[in-house]
Amino acid sequence: MELTQENYYQDKSYLTNSRFKRYQKCQAEALAVDNGEWVEDRDETPLLLGNYVHSFFESEEAHKQFLEENGEKLLAKAGKNKGKLKSDFLIGDKMIESLKDDVGFKRLYHGLADDDVQKEMIVYGELEGVPVKGKLDSVNLSRGYFVDLKTMKSIYSEEWNAELRKRVPVAVNNILGFGYHGQLALYRELLRQMTGKEFRPLIVAVSKEKVPDREILKVDEEWLAQGLEKLKADIVEVWDVINGKREPKKCGHCDYCRSQKQLGVVVSLDELIGGG
Ligand SMILES: [Zn+2]
Repeated sequence: MELTQENYYQDKSYLTNSRFKRYQKCQAEALAVDNGEWVEDRDETPLLLGNYVHSFFESEEAHKQFLEENGEKLLAKAGKNKGKLKSDFLIGDKMIESLKDDVGFKRLYHGLADDDVQKEMIVYGELEGVPVKGKLDSVNLSRGYFVDLKTMKSIYSEEWNAELRKRVPVAVNNILGFGYHGQLALYRELLRQMTGKEFRPLIVAVSKEKVPDREILKVDEEWLAQGLEKLKADIVEVWDVINGKREPKKCGHCDYCRSQKQLGVVVSLDELIGGG
């Protein structure tokens, strides 16, 4: 089947990275969500804020359409700001403002005058025999790179990373913690399958701080390889679960698993200390 901007989100015959990630977190919960048996309780604001900023840099029409479709959700319903943009989205305006007139960003994201640049480009192909698809923010086909615009809490403030066992800039946790390195490697692989060319993945990070920070980031080759390996290791199993060829595993601790819990087994203090 051919993927278009119109059917992209309805289509379930290709796996997306975000759907894959939900299965990695908990197969049982993800399958229940896909089957309409469970509704994930999650805050829509970060996604809306991301799309608010993204659509602005996609095109004027895209931003207008986004505002028409989501206008209600962006406005404060009560308080002194009633009827105006909620503070979450005022930050979005600041993020847009910080990038809009940045010459380096403009050149990178929109390309030079003669460049063939595609926004929201659909990429698709196979990984380990599983059909996968994705949408890329900006692909410069003339110069062989693609850019993903990423909104994050901060770029440089530090946080603990349990795996690396040290404090790292928030951007690192954003990339490694959400498997973003694997996602970029996957997109590069799909572009390779489609064009036969090797593309360079780049991230433009923009922070949600009062004065937004911004940076062009690249993920080093070893991290890209590691991220793609992680995807490859799990993708066949996930696809089998989706297609009913394998029973979904329960993580045991998410909202869905807690809702299905039956008491019986006794848990010891030592097991709790050991992480259960
Ligand atoms: Zn679970």
